Amino acid sequence: MPGPQVTIDLEKIEANTRTVVSWCKASGISIFGVTKGSCGMPQVARAMLRGGVRGLGESRLENIRRLRGAGIDAPVMLLRSPPLSLIDEVIRTVDISLNSELAIIAELSRVAERMGRIHDIILMIDLGDLREGILPTDLIPTIERILEMPGIRIAGLGTNLTCFGAIIPTEVNLGQLADLAGTAQQRFGLDLAYISGGNSSSLPLLLSGNMPKGINHLRIGEAILQGGRDTFLDQPRQELDRDVFLLSGELLEVKMKPSMPIGISGVDAFGGRPVFQDIGERLRGIVNIGREDANIEGLLPVKQGVTVLGASSDHLILDVTDARPVPEVGDRVNFRMSYGALLAAMTSEYVEKLPMYDRNTQNPAARVSIFAEKNVAAALRKHTLDGRLANIGYEVDLTPRVTVDEISASLDRRARPLIFGADHRASFTAMSAVAATLDAFGLLWFDAMASVLPQQDGSESVLYRALGLGPGTGALTPKLSPENVVLIGLRETAPEEVEILKTSRVKIFTIADIDALGMREVIRQAVQIASAGMQGFHVSYNPAVTDIPGYLPGTGGITVRETHQAMEAIHQSKSMRAMDITGLDAEADPRFASMIVHFALSAFGKRIL
Ligand SMILES: *Cc1c(COP(=O)(O)O)cnc(C)c1O
Repeated sequence: MPGPQVTIDLEKIEANTRTVVSWCKASGISIFGVTKGSCGMPQVARAMLRGGVRGLGESRLENIRRLRGAGIDAPVMLLRSPPLSLIDEVIRTVDISLNSELAIIAELSRVAERMGRIHDIILMIDLGDLREGILPTDLIPTIERILEMPGIRIAGLGTNLTCFGAIIPTEVNLGQLADLAGTAQQRFGLDLAYISGGNSSSLPLLLSGNMPKGINHLRIGEAILQGGRDTFLDQPRQELDRDVFLLSGELLEVKMKPSMPIGISGVDAFGGRPVFQDIGERLRGIVNIGREDANIEGLLPVKQGVTVLGASSDHLILDVTDARPVPEVGDRVNFRMSYGALLAAMTSEYVEKLPMYDRNTQNPAARVSIFAEKNVAAALRKHTLDGRLANIGYEVDLTPRVTVDEISASLDRRARPLIFGADHRASFTAMSAVAATLDAFGLLWFDAMASVLPQQDGSESVLYRALGLGPGTGALTPKLSPENVVLIGLRETAPEEVEILKTSRVKIFTIADIDALGMREVIRQAVQIASAGMQGFHVSYNPAVTDIPGYLPGTGGITVRETHQAMEAIHQSKSMRAMDITGLDAEADPRFASMIVHFALSAFGKRIL
């Protein structure tokens, strides 16, 4: 059931990033894109990287784990001092951390040396905002101490402003940072790659042409994610798009009601004493967004004539009297958000996040390229798969080889490849071809088994390899990231597999989940996960997932009807870019092969009636 949703326009993030990067480039300043407003969403990080940021900034290790799990290997900067308890993880997963405490730097040094690594730090200086940083007078002695520590390199100096003390970046305070960096470089011969002059709030100074020489780095989140809604408060910058994130909810009630509550007034659900003005009867709407989902004070209705009156934990109360057309129950209402509201919405488990990425996702042509080894191709011909696809409007070609190059070539022709193979090696070939052609894609994996174990007795463990779960080669990340992979119909897992699955972020719908939710809901969620911020998804189907009467032992798989239902929903999503079907060979029973052919036809749009 769609409750509150945040849509995230990845194209706008990319465009905003390009704008900020070009502003900064002119002054010799490089940018790290800060993803914390999106909780480290890999799609957001990738959009920033496409837009030209040098690296990524994150304040939370959970979010960095998420980025690394998606296969993103760009430099990552930890924006908060590492906690003593997690130094090992910081050394392993983070390239640069911001620091201001010698005790912590000493521990970083100890662990880095033990691991045989060099860890880069940016030493933070407090220029008056009174959040983190050493005081300028302590700079020289602090650097002296750090230079004695092995395993640590001072890669830069930095400051953070407009956070706690609301101190604005100026020529004076950032000039002080540049001077301190100059002193440190001269006195100690340091090579400071980062003289990091703050966050989005430093952009107005840059754009006014007054950024002090020497500042060569900024850490930018808000201006990219929110188009500078908070940064350029008084003078919005047209070059930046402010509507990257939109929160929406559904109207649950629309009624004329008095504007004054009736009865004896006490305190509201949050201990406040609300004050009301009597302006007569008004048309009021209730939306399914509450204080558990967002910071209500930071919501700004997109539609004219809608105002926010207030909220309780689960209900947002609107005045919609002046909105045209008059809103009705069931309509969705959109809101822009302040940075605070964005953070709350992105963190709330109750809010669905829908990243959108439309580039190059023009509808595929009505063309199917079938790839099958010669003997399987013959069997398919017997079942006239090509003829049946032609009957429902496709141009069809058939290639008796399954290779990455030929499948990629068919994707380049905007055809949808349909690959038949004896086992999951064909799935891997197919997914490799998709990875060679698209920037980002999801995966729907229908099988009774997960295939996430390291290679065992010579058999390929395809997902293990594709998702880079081990040290081996051939990972398709970051184009395919675990967050966009859905396993459907799982019913056999080894204990070691359960461990791997638990930590992998892959979404799993077991047979028990399908029983509980129904295939319709499972496939709705699965399609959403596999296409979130992607250019479509690949489908891998193995008949072991389905109880096919008379052929596969009925060990509690999904039914034939559920299989068709899933395939039909996949077709309706219009997001399937390629499909592979394994487990079919030349000796397969014709009735079994016919069943499989019909599943494929459903995925390509054939309805039963
Ligand atoms: C959050 C943060 C940033 C980014 O700030 P924006 O205002 O989103 O640009 C930069 N540096 C540090 C240390 C931060 O915590």
